[in-house]
Amino acid sequence: MDLQESEKIIKVDTLILGGGISGVFIGVEFLQKGLHDFLILEKEELSGGLCRSFKIGNLYYDAGAHALHKKAIESSEKLQKIIDINELYCQKRNASVFIFERFIPHPLQLHLFYAPLWVRFKCFMSYLVRPRIASNDLLNWLQTKFGKQVCKYFLFPYNEKVWKTNLKNISVNWVSRVSSGSSKFLKGLFFSGDQNYNSNEYVCYPNIGGFENLFLGSIEKIHDNLVVNSEVTNIDLDKKEATTRDGKTYQYRKLVSTLPVDLLVKKLITKKNDEIITLVDQLEKVSTCLVTFLTTKHSTSLQRIYVPDKKYLVQRVIINSNSSQYLKKQNESIFSLEISYKDKNDLPSEIAILCNCKELLKDLDMIREDNDVKEYKIDFFEYMYPTQTINLENIILEVKRYLEDYDCYTIGRFGSWNYANIDGILNEVTELINQKF
Ligand SMILES: Cc1cc2nc3c(=O)[nH]c(=O)nc-3n(C[C@H](O)[C@H](O)[C@H](O)COP(=O)(O)OP(=O)(O)OC[C@H]3O[C@@H](n4cnc5c(N)ncnc54)[C@H](O)[C@@H]3O)c2cc1C
Repeated sequence: MDLQESEKIIKVDTLILGGGISGVFIGVEFLQKGLHDFLILEKEELSGGLCRSFKIGNLYYDAGAHALHKKAIESSEKLQKIIDINELYCQKRNASVFIFERFIPHPLQLHLFYAPLWVRFKCFMSYLVRPRIASNDLLNWLQTKFGKQVCKYFLFPYNEKVWKTNLKNISVNWVSRVSSGSSKFLKGLFFSGDQNYNSNEYVCYPNIGGFENLFLGSIEKIHDNLVVNSEVTNIDLDKKEATTRDGKTYQYRKLVSTLPVDLLVKKLITKKNDEIITLVDQLEKVSTCLVTFLTTKHSTSLQRIYVPDKKYLVQRVIINSNSSQYLKKQNESIFSLEISYKDKNDLPSEIAILCNCKELLKDLDMIREDNDVKEYKIDFFEYMYPTQTINLENIILEVKRYLEDYDCYTIGRFGSWNYANIDGILNEVTELINQKF
């Protein structure tokens, strides 16, 4: 398409890169504040980023396991306003670990009562003699909290499968997500029953469609400020100009990027800064191969199954059929299986991945034979989990400082390399707007 000269240059006060949830939340907050002079550039045809949903048959799945924690909604008036809460379906979290050829409620460290007797004995003894040292890496923190044996059976192999790195490199700044507590560990060892899983006991999902339906109302609100199919290919920080693949140039006063910060610094910004590049080169991430199966109806009530055994490629099975009443009522079931990878070349062939996934589904009794699979889809997500490495906070701080000198702010899951849920993203957006706009 040939553009007229006048169409090629667009002036705007604030340019927002990326129409994922961070970009959408910024747009909604700007409008609430009466700020209208902004544009959001999104490379895909639809906005939503990692919160987008996909359909097979009549069923929906998401980019990995998505649900909103009921406590997060209850404690944030802002979140209540920004999401469509009327059609939410909330239910008790129901997740298990597949281990010792049985299902044990997740997390294993709080439900050892259901493990074989010899495992419980070993875990109890190692808990008594667990190391008592302060530690700021995940490997030592887990052993200090729970003892070596339960780490050996579950916490280490599972986390190694997810993070694909030495657990000694991972910091503990996110471990409030890992259920802990001495009394809970001991209670779970000696008594049956479901242990309250942190604050995430109840989870919510839209009753219509997939996870993305929570945000369709917000996306609609920013419709006039959103430019889709608009991939940013170049940013000149000195001139304050961003160029898109379709040949347009956007001149801005302030820039907010929600794109992966390594991509921003290494590929998009014209003037390269070697020191900053060296910093972002230290950032680690995990990509995901998501294998989704549409199958004959299965009656499990589980929503998630955690799989530490390394003979299976998959670390987590998401039974999205159980996420809402609508999905539960359908005549077929949908399962998404998450496989982490660092480098796509490390993955086996698609046929080998499929065979391994089907073997797992059979062992989990979720399909009986290959014919139970009606359809399948394999998706690859390059930016999925920002690894919380020990030196991460300092790196991000330095990079943000550098960019801010050019009125450029980087935020969001991979903009801040932040392992955050939706409520965390919303807090970050609010903080940025309060401080800089
Ligand atoms: C597996 C998984 C499970 C999760 N589970 C939950 C959960 O249960 N509950 C919860 O609350 N949160 C959950 N989250 C977190 C939540 O999904 C993310 O925090 C949130 O979606 C991040 O939004 P974002 O806008 O920061 O990033 P993204 O969604 O990555 O958005 C970035 C956007 O930038 C666009 N883009 C990239 N490059 C360019 C370019 N060059 N030009 C223009 N646009 C570009 C992308 O297309 C994308 O739309 C989960 C996340 C993952 C990955």
